[in-house]
Amino acid sequence: MTTESAAHPAPTLRRDVQLATWQRAARIMPGGTNSNFRAWGEATIYVDRGRGGRVWDLDGNEYVDLRMGYGPVILGHADPRVDDHVNERMRAGVSFSLTSEDEIQVVELICELTGWVEMARMTVSGTEATMHAMRTARAYTGRDKIVKFEGQYHGVHDYALISVLPNDVTQLGDRDNPVRLAWGRGIPEAVASTVIPVPFNDTATLRRIFEREGEDIAGVIIEPILGNAQGIMPREGFHREVRELTREFGALLIFDEVKTGFRLARGGAAEFFGITPDLATYAKAMGNGYPAAAFGGTAEIMSVMPRNMSHGGTYAGNRVAAAAAVATLSILRDPAVLEGIAATGRAIQAGLEDIISRRGLPHVFTGHPTMFGIMFAEEIPADYRGWAATDAALYDAIAVGMQARGAMPEPDSREPWFVCAAHDGTDVARTLEAFEGALDAALETRADDR
Ligand code: PMP
Repeated sequence: MTTESAAHPAPTLRRDVQLATWQRAARIMPGGTNSNFRAWGEATIYVDRGRGGRVWDLDGNEYVDLRMGYGPVILGHADPRVDDHVNERMRAGVSFSLTSEDEIQVVELICELTGWVEMARMTVSGTEATMHAMRTARAYTGRDKIVKFEGQYHGVHDYALISVLPNDVTQLGDRDNPVRLAWGRGIPEAVASTVIPVPFNDTATLRRIFEREGEDIAGVIIEPILGNAQGIMPREGFHREVRELTREFGALLIFDEVKTGFRLARGGAAEFFGITPDLATYAKAMGNGYPAAAFGGTAEIMSVMPRNMSHGGTYAGNRVAAAAAVATLSILRDPAVLEGIAATGRAIQAGLEDIISRRGLPHVFTGHPTMFGIMFAEEIPADYRGWAATDAALYDAIAVGMQARGAMPEPDSREPWFVCAAHDGTDVARTLEAFEGALDAALETRADDR
């Protein structure tokens, strides 16, 4: 993708070491990485280190980090309060397949901060958390089907990879009768047939589905905001209606708070929207980047374990993750931490608003100040299908141009910008400068192309 023009040349990034690393890695790792989401061909970034709100690649290029590892690093990279606590605890051994007090402290903190979770179990990833939350809903209700919303990402297990983030939204089928779109090969039809996709913000379709097959529906899993599609917010009343429908039809409501938990509010999206689900999943912000995750809910529902439902894991609750979660959640107890992150997010948004408005471009912000998206569109779409109508190509060109100018959002318009507690005024200024340069270069390239 070329985004630069003669008037606004992009400063060139050093790439020699990373290119050589990519060639070395791509021979032995598919795409040269450990995740499809990081495989950007020759532009794949190989990281050296991070500190606070900054990150450095193997060529020594420095960036303001606006990805923050897809959200987990809420306090900042290499936070000494978390790292020191983890270091101290890990010297006593990390894996016993026995239960340490650190794990109990984690669950006590989850119960305290959410205010409604009565019991939880730790897992190692968000994927495991959503997989077990879905199983819990099935085990508790004795029903097989799960409703999910289009454009929502719940991890990489088979039940989660239905109608996620296709580039071509027509693949999702009719809005009134959405198809189950498996993401890639390898997902058995028998598994896919137990998952029912519905457009976000659409309770009329949800009601129709409940009326048609409510007796088979164990639960509805929902990312309370479309965190993996620019943070599109629910319309007024949406969550309340979903809550009422699940109650009416005897299904459980699962909030996937992997991105929103301990970020939108100390009690996550449940607190932010004033909704009490039956089950919830947490990961990302609970461990400041360490692999800590959990699923939890009411005592009655969670009590299907240990007797009647499988959950295990050699590393579930391992000391490194548990110690990281204790340290991180203890810091997030102080409401000033999340308020500070939101204030930084609002400062970035105000700067962006000024820059974009001066150029007269239609735009909207989506999401919450701690994790927000920018859409080049007249209005915020209601669902994932609406994302296709935004000027995503302009956004993508800006993101690539920003990287060349020392600030790194995800080079895909669907991923929000993540703000952390360590981002400071200098990071905000540098982000805005990079954005302005990249925007002007992208606009000039467009003008040249016409
Ligand atoms: N749920 C949501 C809402 C997520 O954003 C993610 C990860 N982006 C997951 C689940 C999966 O978490 P993990 O990558 O830790 O498996």
